[in-house]
Amino acid sequence: MAKTNPGRSGFTGYPFCKLSLALLSLVVLVVAVTADDSNFPSSYTRRPQPSKKLTKPVVLLISSDGFRFGYQFKTETPNIDLLISRGTEAKTGLIPVFPSMTFPNHNSIATGLYPASHGIIMNKFTDPTTGELFNRNLDPKWWLGEPLWATAVNQGLKAATYFWPGADVHKGSWTCPKGFCKSPYNVSVTLEERVDTILSYFDLPQSDIPDFMALYLDETDIQGHRYGPDDPRVTIAVAKIDQMIGRVLKGLKKRKVFGDVHVILLGDHGMVTNCDKKVIYIDDLADWIKIPADWIQDYSPVLVMNPRWGKDVKNPGEKNAEVVAKMNEALSSGKVENGEFLQVYLKEKLPERLHYSDSSRIPPIIGMVGEGLLVRQNRTNKQECYGDHGYDNLFFSMRSIFIGHGPRFKRGRKVPSFENVEVYNVIAEILGLRPAPNNGSSLFTRSLLVPVGETAQVE
Ligand SMILES: [Zn+2]
Repeated sequence: MAKTNPGRSGFTGYPFCKLSLALLSLVVLVVAVTADDSNFPSSYTRRPQPSKKLTKPVVLLISSDGFRFGYQFKTETPNIDLLISRGTEAKTGLIPVFPSMTFPNHNSIATGLYPASHGIIMNKFTDPTTGELFNRNLDPKWWLGEPLWATAVNQGLKAATYFWPGADVHKGSWTCPKGFCKSPYNVSVTLEERVDTILSYFDLPQSDIPDFMALYLDETDIQGHRYGPDDPRVTIAVAKIDQMIGRVLKGLKKRKVFGDVHVILLGDHGMVTNCDKKVIYIDDLADWIKIPADWIQDYSPVLVMNPRWGKDVKNPGEKNAEVVAKMNEALSSGKVENGEFLQVYLKEKLPERLHYSDSSRIPPIIGMVGEGLLVRQNRTNKQECYGDHGYDNLFFSMRSIFIGHGPRFKRGRKVPSFENVEVYNVIAEILGLRPAPNNGSSLFTRSLLVPVGETAQVE
């Protein structure tokens, strides 16, 4: 059956794919946790080492799913503001990898690899070679990179994860240990419970405190999908996330480790409103080429096509090129409604900046859909507006945030936007880990982090 609304059909699991969730409470008490200065020296400089309590580097990585860059200006966010003013921020946001979807991006953050290399090329896809379906499977054969928790454990450190997409895959020396790897994802576990569990690890003897912790928060993605990014309920979700950051900071301060822990707050992608008034209908191309629904694996925000040629077709590559040419001819004719907002490519002809060719899992034809546009097979009576992501990572609406706070991050520093494949090396460097091969730049860490033991100064 053709999906007319990919990403919103009834899978169970993470919020980007299950939006028929029971209504979460919309009444959120916004408790602005006042940021006190008690853990900071009065001067503008401080020595990150030796630490007050922790004698080893610790990284707490927090992902707020679908936290679009700019959400921090929707409402008062005193706790996020504190991290920004005393840490290092990507001034115009963190750039997701393409496609700007949850699983590919969380795995790029964790591995430093583009989706073509780490294998999770979409949230859900069919391997064109084997015909097997990936739908957030935990079978390690799908997951090709080495995530941070595995790098940490491989090199004798401890790691803990809470609902991070992909962290419950058992691979190599990472066995998702009970108590330190909360899974499977369950939307009904409150954000407070997730934060408090992470905080409780700091009550352990120092040698047992995980060196690397990854926490997943979902509220901004849930509300963003359901109502679109401009809805007041998203503003409430942003306040809720800020409240959770306040909870983290307060908990770390109470344990006197706030100045020692590297807190990194980021998101996997942004969010944009899409509407049934802005649609490209595949059947409108019929005068040029008839495209059966079973050629299409996904419509939007990325059009994914794997034409089914019979065995008598000797050169499917040539046939695919003909399909692409005919589709683009139709779309640029001026006769297809919204045609100018869809550009179709053979995957090997996609712009190089997308890094989305070099994998047998990527189907042969990919359509780049305009910002906020939908693609459907044919006209329906649907009149919905909501939020989605997955579009070209060039769009600002797909960007998320990056803020780093802690001994290795300069205070008050702004850096240009960067792609999230750089995060792996940054965390590996902080933890003193030898990074696995990845697509990040080893030099990038120097532009973001201060050397060990160097005074972190205000710029
Ligand atoms: Zn997401």
